[in-house]
This record gives sequence, structure tokens and C-alpha cells, in this order.
Amino acid sequence: MFASVKTAPLRPGLAAVSNSVSVFDGKYPGGGNVTAAVFHSGKEAFVFDSLLYPDDTHALLQEAKKSGLGVKGLINTHWHIDHTAGNQLFHDTQHIISHSLCGGLMRTEGKDDPEWAFGRLKLEEKDRIRSTYPNEAVGDGSTLQVGSREIEIIHAPGHTPDSIIGWEKEEGVLIAGDTVMELPFFGYGDSQALIESLKKIRSIAGARGKIVQGHGGVCAGERIVDDIRYLEEVRRRTAEYVGSGKSAEQASAGIKLEDCVTKARFALLSERFGSLLWCHPSNVERAFSELAEKKA
Ligand SMILES: [Zn+2]
Repeated sequence: MFASVKTAPLRPGLAAVSNSVSVFDGKYPGGGNVTAAVFHSGKEAFVFDSLLYPDDTHALLQEAKKSGLGVKGLINTHWHIDHTAGNQLFHDTQHIISHSLCGGLMRTEGKDDPEWAFGRLKLEEKDRIRSTYPNEAVGDGSTLQVGSREIEIIHAPGHTPDSIIGWEKEEGVLIAGDTVMELPFFGYGDSQALIESLKKIRSIAGARGKIVQGHGGVCAGERIVDDIRYLEEVRRRTAEYVGSGKSAEQASAGIKLEDCVTKARFALLSERFGSLLWCHPSNVERAFSELAEKKA
């Protein structure tokens, strides 16, 4: 079953997923390589997510220009710094669009992140990240018109409360942000909400829909079934630790990633997406606090 999963390799430059969606992978390795998506029609384009590393965002905008595209605006799929740090390079576009919760979360939860990234990336002063907040909010079910095409925006909380995704129905491409990752991650979110959002994605995109992940390239809709299974397994195993009075540390040490995913997926994660492995213990800790709270 797992053999049928298709994951496109990470490629430099703008790579076409369909006639209206292309992807661009950031080079910065520490964050598991953010994938930005470009939704375009005719000469107009909207970018989904700005990248963490300024050079990557520059390169993305250059690539769009080379392809004859005029970037009209940006969508932030959620507030995390690796998806919003490049917002400042979109200042001359009219629109920086997000869910209504995004700007507030950037200002509160993410307030120290630009400084953290500046140090961690060893950026030059000219590349210092100046928080640039969304200036327009979209709700669940709104439609974004670009050239002669449209893409539906859907609220998909779980990875974060403000996560939104884009669904391009005509060619069956779903731009998922971090709601879909090589390893599902809810360390800052909510496991049950993520399960519900993934079920929604599975029913919208079907088995054959192409899903642009926030990190790691493009996968087929059928992979989502395994994502849901992983999350349910983490919750089930964590509930046993909570139920028997054990601690979060014991749960985090005892619940191994390899016991919650198939052998093939564990091998893929270890070989190609090692930088995402820390997400698993963080997921267990989050699930523990959710379930312990429920029990109390
Ligand atoms: Zn994220």
C-alpha cells in the first residue's frame, strides 16, 4: 500500500505541478526546506508562503519574474516564521493575505522569532527580518481569483489554529502549507483538529489529488490516510501513558516514531527528512498535555 505513495524529489527553481501551480523549494536545510507554491494564470500570480531564508525569497521572486509572472500578492498559510519571514519582500504587492488569527499569532507567539532566525541563519544586517504582518484576512470557503483561474481557500486548523489551504479544483492541486508534511506536526497546534483537517483534505483531494506540502515537496492524496493513522496511533499510545499515571517524559521516551508509522515511511523519513524527526517527540508531548487536560 505504501509503495503507491509518490513524493516528488526536492528540486531547485520553479517546478510545475500543474498548468496553474508551481513550487519552489527553499535551500535552508535546518527547517526541513519550506516549499512555497505559486498559483498563476496568464501573467498574474499569487505566492503561497514566503520562505525563511532571504536569498530563497529573492530567488523565488526572480524565478517568477523570469517566467513572465507579475506577483500580485502573497498568502501566508499560517503564522510560523519559516513561512512568513519573507513577507517583507512582498511589500510592494497590494495583498498579504492570511486567516484572521495569523497576524495576532505572529505578534504574540512569534514575537521573538525574527531575532532568533537572524542569529540562527547568521544573516547579514541588510537581511535582518522585519516582521511584516498580513493586511487582509480570508475566511473558510473564500475564493481567490488570479487571471482567469480561481482557487478556494479553506480553514484547516490543527498544525496551528490559523492554518489555511488552497484547493485548485480544475486540476486537482491542493496547496497545504504545514497541514500536510512528511511527518504530521501539531507541536504548536491540536492533534484532533489536525486529524479532522486531514480527513477533510482526503475527501476534497481524493486519492489522486496532488498535494503541495509545507516541507518536502508534492505527495498524492492517498498518503493522507497514513498521516491520519500516524496521528491516531500517537494519540492512542499517549492515552495509555496518561491513563496509567505516567509522565510526559516517560511517554516521550517510550513512544517511538518507528512504532507509529510503517517501516517504509520510517525509512523515508530517516533517509530524506531527518531534519523533521524532532517533530515526533514534540507531538507526543503535545498529545500528552491535551489528553492529561481532558482527564483532569
Ligand atoms: Zn509550520
